[in-house]
Amino acid sequence: MTLQADTDQGSTLAHQWDLDKLLDVAKIVKGHASVPLSRFKVGAAVLTKGGVIFEGCNTECLIPVLGVCAERNAINHALIHGHKDFLAVAVVSDLYAPLLPCGACVQYLQEFARQQSRDILIIAEGRSGERLITSIDELFQGGFPPDTSVEEIQGSFSWSLE
Ligand SMILES: [Zn+2]
Repeated sequence: MTLQADTDQGSTLAHQWDLDKLLDVAKIVKGHASVPLSRFKVGAAVLTKGGVIFEGCNTECLIPVLGVCAERNAINHALIHGHKDFLAVAVVSDLYAPLLPCGACVQYLQEFARQQSRDILIIAEGRSGERLITSIDELFQGGFPPDTSVEEIQGSFSWSLE
């Protein structure tokens, strides 16, 4: 397939990596989703700058707010193994159309993109086989700028009980 990415890293990824491989990993791990409430399975796979793939599936428990999306579980999986520089995330679900990451996952991914001063490619594939290729920068205009310090963010949340 042709990758119409306008970023350097997107082009590099297209040359060096088979997007099918990343999606295949996401499809396999989708089968491990633990979703007793929704029964809606999602699989994700993140590609690190070092070329390592980490997978994640969505998880739920009887208290719905404790569930975690596949994308964030994949990122956390990578973090557990010491990887935090991400080039791409593949997402698959049982929906007919491609499913893009939710707002919480976009925020989460954007923070890692910001830390590395890079964009992160998003590849979503639906049950129909249709693929949607976009990126965090395309999905999330705004957010914390790259030079935002932790102290600056903490300072913006300072408040008083009075
Ligand atoms: Zn999400």
